[in-house]
Amino acid sequence: MASTTNLDQTTPHIAIFPTAGMGHLMPFLRLAAMLATRNCTVTVIAAKPTVSAAESDQLSSFFATHQNIKCLEFQLLPYNPTTDIDPFFAQFIAISNSVHLLHPLLSNTSPPLSTFIADFTIASSVCKIATDLSIPTYVLITTSARFFSLLACHSQLVENNAKKGGGEGVDYIEIPAGLPPVPLSSIPPPFFNPNHYFSAIISANAPSFTKVNGILVNTFDWFESATIEVLNSGRVVRDLAPILPVGPLESFKFGHAPNLPWLDNQPAKSVLFISFGSRTALSKDQLSELGVGLEKSGCKFLWILKGSKVDKQDKEEIEEILDESFLERTKNRGMVMKGWVNQEQILAHPAIGGFLSHCGWNSVMEAARQGVPILAWPQHGDQRVNAQVVENAGLGSWARDWIGEKILVKGEEIEEKIREIMRLENLAKASEVREKARHAREIGGNSEQAIQGIIEASKQNE
Ligand code: UDP
Ligand code: UDP
Ligand code: UDP
Repeated sequence: MASTTNLDQTTPHIAIFPTAGMGHLMPFLRLAAMLATRNCTVTVIAAKPTVSAAESDQLSSFFATHQNIKCLEFQLLPYNPTTDIDPFFAQFIAISNSVHLLHPLLSNTSPPLSTFIADFTIASSVCKIATDLSIPTYVLITTSARFFSLLACHSQLVENNAKKGGGEGVDYIEIPAGLPPVPLSSIPPPFFNPNHYFSAIISANAPSFTKVNGILVNTFDWFESATIEVLNSGRVVRDLAPILPVGPLESFKFGHAPNLPWLDNQPAKSVLFISFGSRTALSKDQLSELGVGLEKSGCKFLWILKGSKVDKQDKEEIEEILDESFLERTKNRGMVMKGWVNQEQILAHPAIGGFLSHCGWNSVMEAARQGVPILAWPQHGDQRVNAQVVENAGLGSWARDWIGEKILVKGEEIEEKIREIMRLENLAKASEVREKARHAREIGGNSEQAIQGIIEASKQNE
């Protein structure tokens, strides 16, 4: 891509453009804060209206505590899909459909823009406008390098799958260049369905992976070294832009970190933290079995309960979801909360000794950064592939028989896995991961070098 004129050689101006959902917003805000502390002028493009209340709350508090970072509010064109669609997917499309309106807003910024970093779910539309404006462009991948390898060769995998009769009798999906095959059961079925929005968003944007200047991934070299190396060899996708591992991304300043008095009173490493991220709600039956497992395990726990996908609709009280007698019986060793919590703050707390997680990729990187062992209970999307990465890296174990939303996992099975994950040997392995994650972020570490490389390249965009 051609380059642009930046009059100020010492402070490049970088625009970053997240899309929908906290899983996409959080890593972009982290990256924005990291660039700002590394002497860049940063503009965050904030699409309005947001899907969830958590997103708008997070944006407000972020700009209140980071007044050196500019917010470019971007009003979206209305988008009214005719079919039933996940509201977060609808937002990816709405943003993509509106990107052309950014042209006049970005062509006159002061100082002029030197670099554009966008979410991969809008990569193609962003590439068009960035080419027009002659601004070098990067994408930030909010999933694992491993799941990204599937996104990158999506069209080929869909074609191969169709040739093999739509997966009939196939257990594993081969990925080019000798990357380990992925169990078919780990790939979300909509991936192979060209008529599904999930697949349509991937196929619309994957072609831009060869056009951008680089592909930032919130991972680190040690955690996914083989995948990163093979992707960078050009053998998975010819002319793929360089993969730049930049993770685990650092946390940013929060306006007010809430007190956690209950957690403060628990012994070191004794508490299991349970959260399924920002957009995954288990069924009521499953929640109740999880309660059984927690109670039987005898383990201390901090459980963040979620009743529906979009927080604005999550109106039920804890007592309406969980049995009151369960809450009464466990009140001295368990804490159940509902609504948004500061997950990073919790994972960093000395009392936390394990994390029952759906393996949203941000959660994985946060646990790696804090050295908290994960009991992986993936539900959908990239989460099963991520769970495998967690297990391979020694950060935890994957309860692979617990197959998403399709079956009810009984309390006794959950009890057993909880006991296993809270063992000391898992903490030791997770601490090693934390050390590797910290090295990646130190001066001279791979992830820090990748960030510095982007900043240096931005300074040279004349
Ligand atoms: N998160 C949080 N508090 C919550 C729920 C989620 O801080 O109550 C954060 C979490 O730390 C992570 C992001 O929101 O940074 C969720 O992203 P992830 O990829 O883990 O899962 P998703 O929500 O996309 O499924
Ligand atoms: N934190 C916070 N406010 C801040 C900075 C940090 O609440 O301004 C919380 C945040 O949740 C973070 C935790 O404290 O995860 C530990 O901070 P950080 O990760 O920066 O420190 P480190 O783990 O690198 O020592
Ligand atoms: N999906 C995803 N990431 C998510 C949530 C969903 O990639 O955070 C995928 C998932 O594989 C799912 C598809 O998108 O099959 C549609 O999502 P939805 O949540 O509507 O369906 P689900 O499979 O969860 O019932």
